[in-house]
Amino acid sequence: MEPLICQSCGLPFAKELMGINRDNTKNDEYCVHCFDNGEFTDHSLSLHKLEVKLIEMAEMHNEITLEEAQEVIKQLPYLKRWHMSIM
Ligand SMILES: [Zn+2]
Repeated sequence: MEPLICQSCGLPFAKELMGINRDNTKNDEYCVHCFDNGEFTDHSLSLHKLEVKLIEMAEMHNEITLEEAQEVIKQLPYLKRWHMSIM
């Protein structure tokens, strides 16, 4: 099975962390950190803010490496959530 990649934050996530639709079903396009109860958890999130957040994650929390963060950032404009905003 292909790893699930969140179409908002660009990070891979485990099945248990799938987003949740309003009818309580799972949403396999977004992780639960980004999408819960049928809507995005952070409405003010922008592509730029997300880039900053990913770099911070790499630099301060060591959750991902800087190289990984940069790879994810490169892919962000192609993700479902951001695709429309750049067209
Ligand atoms: Zn996410």
